Amino acid sequence: MSARRWDAIVVGAGPAGSATALLVARAGARVLLLDRASFPRDKPCSEYLSPESTRVLERLGADVLATVAKASPARLTGMRVVAPSGADVVGRFTNFSFALPRTRFDTILRNAAGAAGVEVRERVKVEELVYDAGAVGGVTVRETCNGKRDTYRARVVVGADGLRSVVARRLGRVHATPPHRIAFTAHVRDVRDVTELGEMHVGRHGYVGFGPIGQGLTTVALVVPVAEARRGARFFQELDRFPRVAGRFEPRNLVRRVLATGPFARWSRRSVARGGGALLVGDAADFFDPFTGQGIYSALRGAELAAAAIIDLLATGASLDRYARARRREFMGKWMLERMIGIAVGWPALIERVVGCLTRRPELADLLVRATGNCVPARSVLTPGVLAGLVL
Ligand SMILES: Cc1cc2nc3c(=O)[nH]c(=O)nc-3n(C[C@H](O)[C@H](O)[C@H](O)COP(=O)(O)OP(=O)(O)OC[C@H]3O[C@@H](n4cnc5c(N)ncnc54)[C@H](O)[C@@H]3O)c2cc1C
Repeated sequence: MSARRWDAIVVGAGPAGSATALLVARAGARVLLLDRASFPRDKPCSEYLSPESTRVLERLGADVLATVAKASPARLTGMRVVAPSGADVVGRFTNFSFALPRTRFDTILRNAAGAAGVEVRERVKVEELVYDAGAVGGVTVRETCNGKRDTYRARVVVGADGLRSVVARRLGRVHATPPHRIAFTAHVRDVRDVTELGEMHVGRHGYVGFGPIGQGLTTVALVVPVAEARRGARFFQELDRFPRVAGRFEPRNLVRRVLATGPFARWSRRSVARGGGALLVGDAADFFDPFTGQGIYSALRGAELAAAAIIDLLATGASLDRYARARRREFMGKWMLERMIGIAVGWPALIERVVGCLTRRPELADLLVRATGNCVPARSVLTPGVLAGLVL
Protein backbone atom coordinates (compact mmCIF):
# COMPACT_ATOMS: atom_id res chain seq x y z
CA MET A 1 0.00 0.00 0.00
CA SER A 2 1.40 3.42 -0.92
CA ALA A 3 1.70 6.20 1.62
CA ARG A 4 -1.41 8.35 2.08
CA ARG A 5 0.48 11.67 2.09
CA TRP A 6 1.61 13.62 -0.95
CA ASP A 7 3.02 17.08 -1.63
CA ALA A 8 0.02 17.82 -3.86
CA ILE A 9 -3.27 16.11 -4.63
CA VAL A 10 -4.87 17.18 -7.90
CA VAL A 11 -8.60 16.48 -8.25
CA GLY A 12 -9.58 15.98 -11.91
CA ALA A 13 -7.40 14.74 -14.79
CA GLY A 14 -8.77 17.06 -17.51
CA PRO A 15 -6.38 19.55 -19.17
CA ALA A 16 -6.18 21.76 -16.05
CA GLY A 17 -5.47 18.93 -13.63
CA SER A 18 -3.10 16.85 -15.78
CA ALA A 19 -1.04 19.90 -16.76
CA THR A 20 -0.81 21.15 -13.15
CA ALA A 21 0.15 17.68 -11.88
CA LEU A 22 2.76 17.23 -14.62
CA LEU A 23 4.47 20.56 -13.93
CA VAL A 24 4.52 20.12 -10.14
CA ALA A 25 5.86 16.55 -10.41
CA ARG A 26 8.52 17.66 -12.86
CA ALA A 27 9.81 20.03 -10.15
CA GLY A 28 10.43 16.97 -7.95
CA ALA A 29 7.24 16.89 -5.87
CA ARG A 30 5.15 13.81 -5.02
CA VAL A 31 1.82 14.31 -6.77
CA LEU A 32 -1.38 12.27 -6.74
CA LEU A 33 -3.84 12.85 -9.60
CA LEU A 34 -7.39 11.60 -9.02
CA ASP A 35 -10.30 11.29 -11.44
CA ARG A 36 -13.71 9.76 -10.95
CA ALA A 37 -13.74 8.69 -14.62
CA SER A 38 -11.75 6.01 -16.38
CA PHE A 39 -9.72 7.23 -19.39
CA PRO A 40 -10.20 7.62 -22.28
CA ARG A 41 -13.30 9.54 -21.23
CA ASP A 42 -15.56 11.83 -23.25
CA LYS A 43 -16.15 15.48 -22.44
CA PRO A 44 -18.88 17.64 -24.02
CA CYS A 45 -16.78 20.16 -25.97
CA SER A 46 -16.23 21.61 -29.46
CA GLU A 47 -12.69 20.23 -29.16
CA TYR A 48 -10.79 23.09 -30.73
CA LEU A 49 -7.54 24.13 -29.01
CA SER A 50 -7.18 27.87 -29.53
CA PRO A 51 -3.91 28.61 -31.40
CA GLU A 52 -2.05 29.83 -28.34
CA SER A 53 -2.66 26.45 -26.64
CA THR A 54 0.06 25.06 -28.93
CA ARG A 55 2.66 27.15 -27.13
CA VAL A 56 1.55 25.92 -23.72
CA LEU A 57 1.67 22.32 -24.97
CA GLU A 58 5.21 22.95 -26.18
CA ARG A 59 6.16 24.25 -22.73
CA LEU A 60 4.63 21.13 -21.17
CA GLY A 61 7.13 19.17 -23.25
CA ALA A 62 8.19 18.76 -26.87
CA ASP A 63 7.00 15.14 -26.55
CA VAL A 64 3.52 16.32 -25.46
CA LEU A 65 3.15 18.62 -28.46
CA ALA A 66 4.56 15.95 -30.80
CA THR A 67 2.07 13.36 -29.50
CA VAL A 68 -0.84 15.77 -30.04
CA ALA A 69 0.42 16.62 -33.54
CA LYS A 70 0.69 12.87 -34.34
CA ALA A 71 -2.86 12.12 -33.15
CA SER A 72 -4.31 13.17 -36.54
CA PRO A 73 -5.90 16.41 -35.41
CA ALA A 74 -7.59 18.80 -37.84
CA ARG A 75 -5.89 22.17 -38.27
CA LEU A 76 -8.16 25.21 -38.22
CA THR A 77 -7.01 28.47 -39.77
CA GLY A 78 -9.81 30.73 -38.56
CA MET A 79 -13.48 31.10 -37.65
CA ARG A 80 -16.61 31.80 -39.68
CA VAL A 81 -19.34 33.61 -37.73
CA VAL A 82 -22.82 33.43 -39.24
CA ALA A 83 -25.63 35.79 -38.17
CA PRO A 84 -29.29 34.66 -37.87
CA SER A 85 -30.01 35.96 -41.41
CA GLY A 86 -27.22 33.82 -42.89
CA ALA A 87 -24.82 36.75 -43.42
CA ASP A 88 -21.31 35.71 -42.47
CA VAL A 89 -17.81 36.95 -41.80
CA VAL A 90 -14.47 35.12 -41.58
CA GLY A 91 -11.63 36.00 -39.21
CA ARG A 92 -8.23 34.34 -39.65
CA PHE A 93 -5.71 33.28 -36.99
CA THR A 94 -2.07 34.30 -37.39
CA ASN A 95 -1.22 30.57 -37.43
CA PHE A 96 -3.48 27.53 -36.93
CA SER A 97 -5.15 25.64 -34.13
CA PHE A 98 -5.43 21.91 -33.52
CA ALA A 99 -8.83 20.27 -33.11
CA LEU A 100 -9.16 16.64 -31.95
CA PRO A 101 -11.49 14.48 -29.85
CA ARG A 102 -11.19 15.06 -26.11
CA THR A 103 -10.97 11.30 -25.58
CA ARG A 104 -7.60 11.48 -27.34
CA PHE A 105 -6.36 14.88 -26.20
CA ASP A 106 -7.11 14.44 -22.50
CA THR A 107 -5.61 10.94 -22.49
CA ILE A 108 -2.38 12.31 -23.99
CA LEU A 109 -2.12 14.84 -21.15
CA ARG A 110 -3.03 12.31 -18.47
CA ASN A 111 -0.39 9.89 -19.82
CA ALA A 112 2.19 12.70 -19.93
CA ALA A 113 1.47 13.41 -16.24
CA GLY A 114 1.99 9.71 -15.45
CA ALA A 115 5.26 9.70 -17.43
CA ALA A 116 6.45 12.73 -15.41
CA GLY A 117 6.12 10.69 -12.20
CA VAL A 118 2.57 11.61 -11.13
CA GLU A 119 0.66 8.79 -9.41
CA VAL A 120 -2.62 8.60 -11.35
CA ARG A 121 -5.70 6.94 -9.88
CA GLU A 122 -8.94 6.67 -11.84
CA ARG A 123 -12.48 5.84 -10.72
CA VAL A 124 -11.75 7.68 -7.47
CA LYS A 125 -14.31 10.35 -6.64
CA VAL A 126 -13.38 13.14 -4.25
CA GLU A 127 -16.26 13.86 -1.89
CA GLU A 128 -14.97 16.16 0.85
CA LEU A 129 -12.03 18.30 1.87
CA VAL A 130 -10.11 17.54 5.05
CA TYR A 131 -8.86 20.43 7.20
CA ASP A 132 -5.75 20.61 9.45
CA ALA A 133 -5.60 23.62 11.78
CA GLY A 134 -7.89 25.69 9.54
CA ALA A 135 -6.10 24.94 6.27
CA VAL A 136 -7.09 22.35 3.67
CA GLY A 137 -4.90 19.29 4.28
CA GLY A 138 -6.39 16.55 2.13
CA VAL A 139 -9.48 14.92 0.65
CA THR A 140 -11.83 12.08 1.43
CA VAL A 141 -12.56 9.84 -1.53
CA ARG A 142 -14.78 6.99 -2.64
CA GLU A 143 -13.66 4.39 -5.17
CA THR A 144 -16.50 4.25 -7.69
CA CYS A 145 -15.94 0.54 -8.54
CA ASN A 146 -16.34 -0.80 -4.98
CA GLY A 147 -17.58 2.11 -2.83
CA LYS A 148 -14.47 1.96 -0.60
CA ARG A 149 -13.81 5.22 1.27
CA ASP A 150 -10.39 6.62 2.18
CA THR A 151 -8.60 9.81 3.21
CA TYR A 152 -5.54 11.18 1.41
CA ARG A 153 -3.43 14.04 2.78
CA ALA A 154 -1.24 16.62 1.07
CA ARG A 155 0.22 20.09 1.58
CA VAL A 156 -1.83 21.38 -1.34
CA VAL A 157 -5.13 20.26 -2.87
CA VAL A 158 -5.85 21.43 -6.41
CA GLY A 159 -9.50 21.58 -7.51
CA ALA A 160 -9.36 20.86 -11.26
CA ASP A 161 -12.65 19.00 -11.25
CA GLY A 162 -14.47 21.05 -13.87
CA LEU A 163 -17.75 22.94 -14.10
CA ARG A 164 -19.48 21.20 -11.17
CA SER A 165 -16.33 21.20 -9.02
CA VAL A 166 -16.90 19.66 -5.62
CA VAL A 167 -13.69 21.30 -4.38
CA ALA A 168 -14.99 24.77 -5.41
CA ARG A 169 -18.30 24.14 -3.67
CA ARG A 170 -16.59 23.01 -0.49
CA LEU A 171 -14.32 26.09 -0.52
CA GLY A 172 -17.15 28.61 -0.63
CA ARG A 173 -19.78 30.24 -2.76
CA VAL A 174 -19.94 29.40 -6.44
CA HIS A 175 -21.77 32.12 -8.38
CA ALA A 176 -24.11 31.36 -11.26
CA THR A 177 -25.09 34.23 -13.57
CA PRO A 178 -27.25 34.63 -16.69
CA PRO A 179 -27.28 33.73 -19.51
CA HIS A 180 -28.25 30.22 -18.35
CA ARG A 181 -27.42 28.00 -21.31
CA ILE A 182 -27.06 24.30 -21.81
CA ALA A 183 -25.12 22.44 -24.55
CA PHE A 184 -25.59 19.25 -26.54
CA THR A 185 -22.53 17.92 -28.36
CA ALA A 186 -22.05 15.18 -30.92
CA HIS A 187 -19.61 13.69 -33.42
CA VAL A 188 -20.97 13.36 -36.94
CA ARG A 189 -19.37 11.76 -39.99
CA ASP A 190 -19.39 13.17 -43.56
CA VAL A 191 -20.81 16.61 -42.80
CA ARG A 192 -21.24 18.63 -45.99
CA ASP A 193 -18.94 21.55 -46.89
CA VAL A 194 -16.69 21.38 -43.84
CA THR A 195 -13.51 23.39 -44.42
CA GLU A 196 -10.46 24.30 -42.35
CA LEU A 197 -12.57 26.93 -40.56
CA GLY A 198 -14.48 26.55 -37.32
CA GLU A 199 -18.09 27.75 -37.73
CA MET A 200 -20.26 29.60 -35.23
CA HIS A 201 -23.90 30.05 -36.29
CA VAL A 202 -25.98 32.36 -34.12
CA GLY A 203 -29.74 31.85 -34.21
CA ARG A 204 -32.79 33.32 -32.52
CA HIS A 205 -32.74 30.65 -29.83
CA GLY A 206 -29.09 29.82 -29.23
CA TYR A 207 -26.12 28.98 -31.38
CA VAL A 208 -24.31 26.09 -33.05
CA GLY A 209 -20.55 25.67 -33.21
CA PHE A 210 -18.84 23.04 -35.31
CA GLY A 211 -15.63 22.14 -37.06
CA PRO A 212 -13.49 19.21 -38.22
CA ILE A 213 -11.61 17.13 -35.62
CA GLY A 214 -9.75 14.84 -38.03
CA GLN A 215 -10.46 11.44 -39.58
CA GLY A 216 -13.60 12.67 -41.38
CA LEU A 217 -15.39 13.63 -38.17
CA THR A 218 -17.04 16.90 -37.28
CA THR A 219 -17.70 17.91 -33.70
CA VAL A 220 -20.91 19.87 -33.24
CA ALA A 221 -22.23 21.73 -30.21
CA LEU A 222 -25.76 23.10 -29.98
CA VAL A 223 -26.07 25.69 -27.21
CA VAL A 224 -29.55 26.84 -26.16
CA PRO A 225 -31.09 28.68 -23.22
CA VAL A 226 -32.10 26.29 -20.42
CA ALA A 227 -35.77 27.24 -20.99
CA GLU A 228 -35.48 26.13 -24.64
CA ALA A 229 -33.96 22.79 -23.64
CA ARG A 230 -36.86 22.22 -21.21
CA ARG A 231 -39.24 22.59 -24.14
CA GLY A 232 -37.62 19.41 -25.46
CA ALA A 233 -35.28 20.64 -28.19
CA ARG A 234 -34.47 17.77 -30.62
CA PHE A 235 -30.84 17.82 -31.66
CA PHE A 236 -30.94 17.46 -35.46
CA GLN A 237 -34.26 19.32 -35.83
CA GLU A 238 -32.73 22.22 -33.92
CA LEU A 239 -29.68 22.27 -36.23
CA ASP A 240 -32.01 22.63 -39.22
CA ARG A 241 -33.35 25.89 -37.76
CA PHE A 242 -30.04 27.60 -38.61
CA PRO A 243 -30.13 28.76 -42.30
CA ARG A 244 -26.50 27.89 -43.16
CA VAL A 245 -26.54 24.61 -41.21
CA ALA A 246 -29.78 23.08 -42.49
CA GLY A 247 -29.24 19.96 -44.59
CA ARG A 248 -25.54 19.53 -43.81
CA PHE A 249 -25.92 16.92 -41.04
CA GLU A 250 -27.41 13.45 -41.50
CA PRO A 251 -28.77 11.93 -38.26
CA ARG A 252 -27.69 8.46 -39.45
CA ASN A 253 -24.06 9.68 -39.51
CA LEU A 254 -24.00 10.30 -35.78
CA VAL A 255 -21.01 8.31 -34.46
CA ARG A 256 -21.29 9.03 -30.74
CA ARG A 257 -24.26 9.54 -28.47
CA VAL A 258 -25.23 13.18 -27.91
CA LEU A 259 -23.70 14.48 -24.65
CA ALA A 260 -25.33 17.25 -22.61
CA THR A 261 -23.79 19.72 -20.17
CA GLY A 262 -24.65 22.97 -18.42
CA PRO A 263 -25.88 25.36 -17.30
CA PHE A 264 -22.62 27.35 -17.54
CA ALA A 265 -21.67 30.80 -16.27
CA ARG A 266 -20.28 29.80 -12.90
CA TRP A 267 -17.34 31.15 -11.02
CA SER A 268 -15.89 30.88 -7.56
CA ARG A 269 -15.44 33.93 -5.42
CA ARG A 270 -11.97 32.74 -4.41
CA SER A 271 -9.50 30.74 -6.50
CA VAL A 272 -7.39 30.15 -3.35
CA ALA A 273 -8.77 28.74 -0.07
CA ARG A 274 -9.12 31.34 2.67
CA GLY A 275 -6.98 29.38 5.16
CA GLY A 276 -4.54 28.16 2.47
CA GLY A 277 -3.81 24.64 1.31
CA ALA A 278 -6.03 24.60 -1.80
CA LEU A 279 -6.59 26.35 -5.09
CA LEU A 280 -8.87 26.06 -8.12
CA VAL A 281 -7.85 25.85 -11.77
CA GLY A 282 -9.67 25.46 -15.11
CA ASP A 283 -13.48 25.34 -15.20
CA ALA A 284 -13.50 24.68 -11.44
CA ALA A 285 -12.35 28.30 -11.00
CA ASP A 286 -14.57 29.89 -13.65
CA PHE A 287 -16.37 29.18 -16.90
CA PHE A 288 -18.71 31.61 -18.62
CA ASP A 289 -19.78 30.50 -22.09
CA PRO A 290 -18.27 28.17 -24.71
CA PHE A 291 -18.80 30.56 -27.69
CA THR A 292 -15.20 31.83 -27.71
CA GLY A 293 -13.64 28.36 -27.27
CA GLN A 294 -11.04 29.51 -24.76
CA GLY A 295 -11.66 26.95 -22.01
CA ILE A 296 -8.81 24.55 -22.82
CA TYR A 297 -6.30 27.36 -23.21
CA SER A 298 -7.43 28.86 -19.89
CA ALA A 299 -7.14 25.44 -18.25
CA LEU A 300 -3.58 24.95 -19.56
CA ARG A 301 -2.38 28.49 -18.90
CA GLY A 302 -4.07 28.46 -15.47
CA ALA A 303 -2.20 25.21 -14.76
CA GLU A 304 1.11 26.95 -15.45
CA LEU A 305 0.22 29.72 -13.01
CA ALA A 306 -1.03 27.24 -10.38
CA ALA A 307 2.06 25.03 -10.70
CA ALA A 308 4.40 28.02 -10.25
CA ALA A 309 2.62 28.99 -7.01
CA ILE A 310 2.56 25.40 -5.69
CA ILE A 311 6.25 24.82 -6.46
CA ASP A 312 7.05 28.06 -4.63
CA LEU A 313 4.94 27.04 -1.64
CA LEU A 314 6.58 23.60 -1.43
CA ALA A 315 10.07 25.10 -1.68
CA THR A 316 9.76 28.22 0.47
CA GLY A 317 6.37 28.09 2.24
CA ALA A 318 5.20 31.13 0.18
CA SER A 319 1.47 31.87 0.24
CA LEU A 320 -0.73 30.62 -2.61
CA ASP A 321 -2.32 34.09 -2.79
CA ARG A 322 0.13 35.04 -5.55
CA TYR A 323 -1.81 32.59 -7.74
CA ALA A 324 -5.05 34.55 -7.33
CA ARG A 325 -3.23 37.75 -8.30
CA ALA A 326 -1.53 36.09 -11.27
CA ARG A 327 -4.90 34.81 -12.53
CA ARG A 328 -6.42 38.28 -12.38
CA ARG A 329 -3.49 39.77 -14.28
CA GLU A 330 -3.51 37.01 -16.89
CA PHE A 331 -7.24 36.55 -17.44
CA MET A 332 -9.00 39.87 -16.67
CA GLY A 333 -9.17 40.93 -20.34
CA LYS A 334 -10.20 37.44 -21.44
CA TRP A 335 -12.95 37.32 -18.79
CA MET A 336 -14.36 40.65 -20.01
CA LEU A 337 -14.23 39.69 -23.69
CA GLU A 338 -15.73 36.25 -23.05
CA ARG A 339 -18.60 37.69 -21.00
CA MET A 340 -19.24 40.45 -23.54
CA ILE A 341 -19.44 37.98 -26.44
CA GLY A 342 -21.41 35.44 -24.37
CA ILE A 343 -24.07 38.06 -23.63
CA ALA A 344 -24.05 39.52 -27.18
CA VAL A 345 -24.88 36.15 -28.80
CA GLY A 346 -28.18 36.23 -26.91
CA TRP A 347 -29.15 39.34 -28.95
CA PRO A 348 -29.66 38.26 -32.59
CA ALA A 349 -30.12 41.85 -33.84
CA LEU A 350 -26.82 42.88 -32.27
CA ILE A 351 -24.98 39.93 -33.85
CA GLU A 352 -26.53 40.84 -37.21
CA ARG A 353 -25.12 44.34 -36.83
CA VAL A 354 -21.67 43.20 -35.65
CA VAL A 355 -21.36 40.72 -38.55
CA GLY A 356 -22.38 43.53 -40.97
CA CYS A 357 -19.73 45.88 -39.51
CA LEU A 358 -17.03 43.17 -39.55
CA THR A 359 -17.77 42.37 -43.20
CA ARG A 360 -16.86 45.97 -44.00
CA ARG A 361 -13.82 45.88 -41.67
CA PRO A 362 -12.08 42.50 -42.27
CA GLU A 363 -9.08 43.62 -40.21
CA LEU A 364 -11.41 43.88 -37.17
CA ALA A 365 -12.77 40.39 -37.86
CA ASP A 366 -9.19 39.05 -37.81
CA LEU A 367 -8.44 40.99 -34.62
CA LEU A 368 -11.52 39.65 -32.83
CA VAL A 369 -10.85 36.04 -33.86
CA ARG A 370 -7.17 36.37 -32.90
CA ALA A 371 -8.11 37.81 -29.50
CA THR A 372 -10.53 34.96 -28.79
CA GLY A 373 -7.85 32.54 -30.01
CA ASN A 374 -5.42 34.14 -27.53
CA CYS A 375 -3.03 35.03 -30.40
CA VAL A 376 -3.22 38.71 -29.32
CA PRO A 377 -4.16 40.07 -25.87
CA ALA A 378 -7.92 40.40 -25.27
CA ARG A 379 -7.36 44.02 -24.24
CA SER A 380 -6.48 44.87 -27.86
CA VAL A 381 -10.22 44.49 -28.60
CA LEU A 382 -11.36 46.28 -25.44
CA THR A 383 -10.57 49.79 -26.69
CA PRO A 384 -13.23 52.43 -27.46
CA GLY A 385 -12.13 52.56 -31.11
CA VAL A 386 -12.42 48.81 -31.70
CA LEU A 387 -15.65 48.42 -29.72
CA ALA A 388 -17.22 51.29 -31.70
CA GLY A 389 -16.04 49.66 -34.94
CA LEU A 390 -17.97 46.50 -34.03
CA VAL A 391 -21.33 48.25 -34.03
CA LEU A 392 -21.05 51.55 -35.99
C1 LIG B 1 -20.39 22.89 -25.34
C2 LIG B 1 -18.98 23.24 -25.00
C3 LIG B 1 -18.08 23.47 -26.01
C4 LIG B 1 -16.75 23.81 -25.69
N1 LIG B 1 -15.87 24.01 -26.71
C5 LIG B 1 -14.60 24.35 -26.43
C6 LIG B 1 -13.64 24.49 -27.46
O1 LIG B 1 -13.91 24.27 -28.64
N2 LIG B 1 -12.38 24.87 -27.10
C7 LIG B 1 -12.03 25.11 -25.81
O2 LIG B 1 -10.88 25.48 -25.56
N3 LIG B 1 -12.91 24.94 -24.80
C8 LIG B 1 -14.17 24.55 -25.08
N4 LIG B 1 -15.05 24.33 -24.06
C9 LIG B 1 -14.59 24.49 -22.66
C10 LIG B 1 -13.72 23.30 -22.25
O3 LIG B 1 -14.41 22.09 -22.50
C11 LIG B 1 -13.40 23.39 -20.75
O4 LIG B 1 -13.06 24.73 -20.44
C12 LIG B 1 -12.24 22.47 -20.38
O5 LIG B 1 -12.61 21.13 -20.52
C13 LIG B 1 -11.81 22.73 -18.93
O6 LIG B 1 -10.87 21.76 -18.54
P1 LIG B 1 -10.78 21.33 -17.01
O7 LIG B 1 -9.57 20.47 -16.92
O8 LIG B 1 -10.89 22.52 -16.14
O9 LIG B 1 -12.11 20.49 -16.72
P2 LIG B 1 -12.63 19.13 -17.36
O10 LIG B 1 -12.08 18.94 -18.71
O11 LIG B 1 -14.11 19.17 -17.19
O12 LIG B 1 -12.03 18.00 -16.43
C14 LIG B 1 -12.50 17.82 -15.11
C15 LIG B 1 -12.18 16.40 -14.67
O13 LIG B 1 -12.53 16.28 -13.29
C16 LIG B 1 -13.13 15.02 -13.06
N5 LIG B 1 -13.94 15.13 -11.85
C17 LIG B 1 -15.08 15.86 -11.69
N6 LIG B 1 -15.53 15.75 -10.43
C18 LIG B 1 -14.66 14.93 -9.77
C19 LIG B 1 -14.61 14.44 -8.45
N7 LIG B 1 -15.50 14.78 -7.53
N8 LIG B 1 -13.59 13.62 -8.12
C20 LIG B 1 -12.65 13.26 -9.05
N9 LIG B 1 -12.67 13.70 -10.31
C21 LIG B 1 -13.65 14.54 -10.68
C22 LIG B 1 -13.91 14.74 -14.32
O14 LIG B 1 -14.13 13.36 -14.51
C23 LIG B 1 -13.00 15.34 -15.40
O15 LIG B 1 -12.11 14.38 -15.95
C24 LIG B 1 -16.36 23.96 -24.34
C25 LIG B 1 -17.26 23.71 -23.32
C26 LIG B 1 -18.57 23.35 -23.64
C27 LIG B 1 -19.52 23.08 -22.53
